[in-house]
Amino acid sequence: FADRDGFIWYDGKLVPWREATTHVLTYTLHYGVGCFEGVRAYETPSGTAIFRLQDHTKRLFGSAKILGMAMPYSEDEISEAQLEVLRANKLSEAYIRPMVFYGAEGMGLRADGLKTHVIIAPWAWGSYLGAENLQRGIRVRTSSFTRHYVNSAMCRAKANGNYINSMFALNEVLRDGYDEALMLDTTGHIAEGSAENIFVVYGKALHTPDLNSCLDGITRRTVMQLARDFGYTVTERRITRDELYICDEAFFTGTAAEITPIREVDNRPVGTGTRGPVTEQLQTAYLNLVKGRSDHYPDWLAYI
Ligand code: PMP
Repeated sequence: FADRDGFIWYDGKLVPWREATTHVLTYTLHYGVGCFEGVRAYETPSGTAIFRLQDHTKRLFGSAKILGMAMPYSEDEISEAQLEVLRANKLSEAYIRPMVFYGAEGMGLRADGLKTHVIIAPWAWGSYLGAENLQRGIRVRTSSFTRHYVNSAMCRAKANGNYINSMFALNEVLRDGYDEALMLDTTGHIAEGSAENIFVVYGKALHTPDLNSCLDGITRRTVMQLARDFGYTVTERRITRDELYICDEAFFTGTAAEITPIREVDNRPVGTGTRGPVTEQLQTAYLNLVKGRSDHYPDWLAYI
């Protein structure tokens, strides 16, 4: 990934892609103390637009605050930088990765005088869980790894170190031929996928886990709004694993994964084992929204 053309926004400057490097004693590389975002820009009839840019930037600043990292830029500067780096790379559709990290100013957990650095890298990236799976749905298995407990990791932060837990879960199920892991919290209730929130559908009712052990996903928020606009009820609550076995439909949400149907959980078909009508309706509405083909929520599109 390092050997490409293009530019990365690095501490306020556009740096050639191959030169956007850091020292091996970078604090964040050793201890995982850093935070990041995953943002998407789509091509719309009025040009390229980043979806819910300000909300992603706000979550990034919230993550940094939770980690105690002082941000050397304002939210407006970081939002503008994401637009700038897209323009510089001449990308009409992109996944955008802002990341906040400490440099090599000190070593050891107790290092002081650390400086916060920020990079923003955009690249063209198709469907995270496979284009055909947006229609067909994916096969999911419950992980043997437990999702974070609120007082050992803090899930409101999209923190680099939090993803070790995701990698354990994901690698375990990929090795056994499944597409994604379902993670349970410390009480055995459903938390989320390795990088997606989850929704369960019963008739006209949508249920999604409360925010104790999962990320406050921006796609999750969007889907909750769209579902309510369609007249569905949406409830945030504790959901058990067997509820997922007997629901009508289930799907994952995420900036990368968009809305991905779940067709099988723990070798049991979800509903009819195909994408359900509610999932399809929300998926269509979501894609229309992000691609600027809807009149709803125009404030959620930031044009480059
Ligand atoms: N949970 C985790 C652990 C994630 O990494 C992501 C992806 N950012 C999500 C949920 C979905 O969040 P969003 O909709 O904001 O991309």
